[in-house]
This record gives sequence, C-alpha cells and structure tokens, in this order.
Amino acid sequence: MKKLVVASSNPGKIREFEQMLTPLGFEIVPQSQLGVADADEPHATFVENALAKARHASRLSHMPAFADDSGICVAALAGEPGVHSARYAGVANAPAQDRAIQDNRNNEKLIASLSRKRDRRAHYYCVIVLVRNPNDPEPLIAEGRWHGEVLAEARGSGGFGYDPYFYVPALGRTAAELDASEKNAVSHRGQALKHLVARLVEERA
Ligand code: IMP
Repeated sequence: MKKLVVASSNPGKIREFEQMLTPLGFEIVPQSQLGVADADEPHATFVENALAKARHASRLSHMPAFADDSGICVAALAGEPGVHSARYAGVANAPAQDRAIQDNRNNEKLIASLSRKRDRRAHYYCVIVLVRNPNDPEPLIAEGRWHGEVLAEARGSGGFGYDPYFYVPALGRTAAELDASEKNAVSHRGQALKHLVARLVEERA
C-alpha cells in the first residue's frame, strides 16, 4: 500500500504530509489530481469528519485514502473554533489563492474573541483516518495534540492558518517561527502521522 490518496485540498497540510511520508516510501496523491472534490464536513467530531472525507476519496479514487481533520481548540472559548476552525470567519475550503485571506479573517476573529480573556490556553488537535477501501470496517485512526497559547500579535511567517498566533512556551516560539521539520517533529499532525505510520509499518510486517 505505497500509493495513498490524501483527501485534502489544503496546500499547507498536503505539504506537511508529503514532507513526513515521502521519506518513508509512500507516494502521496492529492485527491484533486484525480478529479475528486472536497467532501462535506458536517459532523460535530473531528473523527467523524475525517472518516467521511477518507471514505469519499477512496470511493471515488478506488484507492486507499486518508484524511485528517484538525483544528485549534481554545480553552476560554469552550473549545471553539474546534471543528469549525477552517470556516471560523466564513466559507470553508477557499480556493488556494484565497487561503491567505481566509486565514487572516479567521485569525482576526479569534483575536477579537479573546481580547478580554486572560486565559490564552489552546491546543491544536489532529486525527488522521486511513481506509484501505470505502467500506473498510477497521479504519486506521491516529491522533495528536499540541498545547500552546494564543498570542495577541502575530509572530513568524512559516506554517499556515493560526500558526503565527500559536505560541509554544516549551519552545519559546510560535508555530510560524518553526521551520517545517521543527514543526513536523512536535505538531499535532506530526504526532498523529507518527502513530499512523507505526500502524502502517505493523501491517506491512
Ligand atoms: P480541516 O481542513 O477541516 O481539518 O481544517 C483545519 C483548519 O484548522 C485549518 O484550515 C486551519 O485553520 C486550522 N489548522 C489545523 N492545523 C493547523 C496547523 O497546523 N496550523 C495552523 N492552522 C491549523
């Protein structure tokens, strides 16, 4: 199972998946290359959304597929934006050229929502679901959490989404101040991928 369809059109995420999986011998095929459009994400939990996206991609591509669902969960906002992170300030799945605008709007809304809050704790959460076929009764499920705080002002130019505001006290930097390999080594997506890869390797053995 070397070729894996990735059910995402988010260039930031696809880049991170490629950086982490290509060295391990997996060929990542973005679903858009196969003419597969993004699935809806109507569910209240990350895992349900990821499963729906992975199944949709596998059904239309006739290949094993994986999807992640992720977001930033802010303690003082009762876990919001959470599953709504991509569309916190409006429409989800913006075309690539509009992503930066969408990210800016999401960040502006988040900072405004926290303007009177002293508790700035937040974590990124990521779950990855991989199905070998659309009706796979035993999907591989892997998750990761990355704890930090939301800053009032942006720092750094790497990463994507909420990264310039996501400060990691243990590193003394925001996620956007880490280079790609530093972020992948500790991030929610990196942790989830490590768990997923361990499961894939187990299966191959
Ligand atoms: P999804 O495509 O529904 O999983 O949306 C995830 C959204 O959560 C992204 O569009 C970002 O807004 C946010 N997000 C998830 N992971 C990250 C990250 O590593 N950095 C910054 N933002 C992230």
